[in-house]
Amino acid sequence: MHMNADQLKDYDQTYIAGTYARQDVAFVSGKGAELFDETGRRYIDLGSGIGVNTFGVADCDWIEAVTTQANKLTHVSNYYYTQPQVELARMLCKRTGMKKAFFSNSGAEANECAIKTARKYASDKYGQARPNIITLQNSFHGRTISTLSATGQEAYHKNFGPFTTGFLYVPANNLIAMESALSRGDVCAIFIELIQGEGGVCVLDKEYVQAVARTAKSLDVLLMIDEVQTGNGRTGALYSYMQYDVMPDVVTTAKGIAGGLPFGATLLGQKVKDVLDAGAHGSTFGGNPVCAAAALSTLSRIDDALLADVRAKSEYIRNELYGAPGVLYLSGMGLMIGIECGADCRDIQKRCLERGVLVLTAKTKVRLLPPLNIPFPVLEEAITILKEELAK
Ligand SMILES: *Cc1c(COP(=O)(O)O)cnc(C)c1O
Repeated sequence: MHMNADQLKDYDQTYIAGTYARQDVAFVSGKGAELFDETGRRYIDLGSGIGVNTFGVADCDWIEAVTTQANKLTHVSNYYYTQPQVELARMLCKRTGMKKAFFSNSGAEANECAIKTARKYASDKYGQARPNIITLQNSFHGRTISTLSATGQEAYHKNFGPFTTGFLYVPANNLIAMESALSRGDVCAIFIELIQGEGGVCVLDKEYVQAVARTAKSLDVLLMIDEVQTGNGRTGALYSYMQYDVMPDVVTTAKGIAGGLPFGATLLGQKVKDVLDAGAHGSTFGGNPVCAAAALSTLSRIDDALLADVRAKSEYIRNELYGAPGVLYLSGMGLMIGIECGADCRDIQKRCLERGVLVLTAKTKVRLLPPLNIPFPVLEEAITILKEELAK
């Protein structure tokens, strides 16, 4: 059965939970940074499925990695050893300095694992004395009840209580507030994004993060970084904490790690590498061979040359948009860019869509998360259109 666009919309609204304010387009295929709707119309994708399609859509190397593994073994459960999972964990540890990995299927799950790790670390060592986790106001950590609890935004909390207790929210970039919360003595971990993505692409100060890291270390409080959106090359480093010169105890990531398949990873540093023992945590699909093969292929391509390319494209976008008509200021790092435009960012998003360019929004900003390998001419074409719409 083929559905035309109107039928599709109608059935979607009838049969799919109304959680998404969808834009008025249905996609059927794509190649790289370009997507095609059912009329064959081409769109340039500056959102990559919210930072998921690291190398765009239908990338040849990615397809090869996934289909090769799918032809061998898709799933066996975590009762057994499988090679892609082990290779991936080894690669992640070697490239980050973390010591062990736990694999899951999404950002929220990666963060749940971090929360459980922090609680158990403290419980093993301090009994019930340190149950609390500090997170930042304006953060976003996921949609499950506990990761919603961790999320420091009241708007997300409405209607869903009671919540998991034990989260303390402090304002970002405010060391005094952080130290005051730590002085309670009942805190096991600090859990932060270094660039608040959903919060509006807000970058934390380097001095602040380094001071927080030092204080946390001196108090045996875990430093846990949510790299679900910032990770896997997005900011111009493999993980954004590397650009802050800090060494976290826990790193979580998901979104772009497997280049389009669901995957979450929680990386455990020296202090916590053995906290999760047999039976302490688990996931049916986590580390699934096909998804692990996709992640291996994706990560192995995020090398110094690619990261330099990400930074060069970032520079190009910033130079184009800096001071351009309709642009108040820019934020972000690498190919994670926020544009404060003073106008309604959703209007701009809609007009860009009408002109064949997909952008995202975050709070009041237009947000760009293009595929890391978007070709320069395609990027230029899209930025030219975006600039025209920002200027209106
Ligand atoms: C997207 C996101 C999440 C949630 O990831 P899901 O895969 O949707 O569960 C968590 N933290 C951050 C920083 C994110 O950007």
